[in-house]
Amino acid sequence: MTLTLNYCYRIYPDTNQEKKMLDWLETCRRLYNRCLREVKDWYNSKKCLIDRCSIKQEYIIPVDQPFPGYYNQQNALPKLKKEDPYLKAAQSQILQTTVRRLHEALDFFRQRGYGFPRYKKYGSMRSMLFPQFKSNPITGGQIQIPKVGKMPINLHRPIPKEFVVKQVRVLTKAGKWYAVVCIQSDIDIPQPMPWGHAKGIDLGLESFLTTSDREYIARPLFFKELQRKLELLQRKLSRKQKRSRNRDKARLKVARIHALIYDTRKNFHYQTAHKICKDSGMIFVEDLNLVAMNRGMLRKHTLDAAFGAFLNILENVCFKRGIYFAKVDARGTSQTCPDCGTHTGKKELTDRTHKCENCGYETHRDHAAAEVIRQRGIAALGLRDKENACEEEAAGIGSNISLVGTRCNRKAKLRVLEAPSKRSAQVGEDVTTFFS
Ligand SMILES: [Zn+2]
Repeated sequence: MTLTLNYCYRIYPDTNQEKKMLDWLETCRRLYNRCLREVKDWYNSKKCLIDRCSIKQEYIIPVDQPFPGYYNQQNALPKLKKEDPYLKAAQSQILQTTVRRLHEALDFFRQRGYGFPRYKKYGSMRSMLFPQFKSNPITGGQIQIPKVGKMPINLHRPIPKEFVVKQVRVLTKAGKWYAVVCIQSDIDIPQPMPWGHAKGIDLGLESFLTTSDREYIARPLFFKELQRKLELLQRKLSRKQKRSRNRDKARLKVARIHALIYDTRKNFHYQTAHKICKDSGMIFVEDLNLVAMNRGMLRKHTLDAAFGAFLNILENVCFKRGIYFAKVDARGTSQTCPDCGTHTGKKELTDRTHKCENCGYETHRDHAAAEVIRQRGIAALGLRDKENACEEEAAGIGSNISLVGTRCNRKAKLRVLEAPSKRSAQVGEDVTTFFS
């Protein structure tokens, strides 16, 4: 098995190099749009009626013309290069990877059924992929980019010795340049196994996340402030004349704010992930339907919180720290009582507390959901939850993996004291059957 990692570094091209790479990006964009045009024409020609011509326009493409797939379009590149001098100037492999990028987008579209690739506007092609290197391109604090030359690279994180550089994606964002270096190694790192203290995590909008240990992490407020600034700048940008210098400047300002929001959010996500990983061995989260969430009433807020990005980061942080990570079924987590497991009624968004009518358990709504997630995760592993196993352990039967938590012990003891009398008073059942 090979392990692949992507490390992102800042690079510093000089003025000539920058101009050259910007030209190449524009070339890639034109090529992308040209290939997309071919694909669209082919599709449109198949949509024509067989028995008559349309009044407006007709696509004249032979019926037996094959679909312009990846290999067809890639093999047509040398011929295109003879016709277009601008294609000739660019490095040849980035052109191939641009064609592949279009066909990857088409494959995604076919798999998901939505999101047909779109034409790229001027300036919206921001990265190009160099897929092959004969020797290590990074030497002595510099990176060698094919046909561009050497430029300084900020190796803030050294590349481990066992790894080989496979690909480099050069990208520009808000006027800065980066190289995403894809490194590979044959070393085998096993996935973490379940151990230690288990934690359930409920993601929400009131507090960003709640754990089953009653840790509440508030939603950061700086996004709101930056959002207002962004709106102002976007309004200014929309009033600038197209293709003017002032428009370019305004566009750069908007891009900087976007980059700032992205960076601050990412930083917050990493810090939060490390914080909750600190004293646990297993972490369980809900398997959220993010597409549906991002279309709902609170879409602006859910998009802002970027739960999907956070879950990816959390998974990586867990892997790095050797913590078991799993997603559990999210259905009805806020409608189940974590203490007795009965189905309580649907809560409104304004209902902030969970109060069970069956056992009288009362806690914060998000905390209850987090506890349910924790229990589901443990059950999926085939382990017994401490909260149900307490009585047995007191009798001297230890479980193979101990999930020791003082809070849970205390709660279970409380339940032993309270629950039977209440339950037997209500239902008139034998106390012993309740525990079995
Ligand atoms: Zn209950």
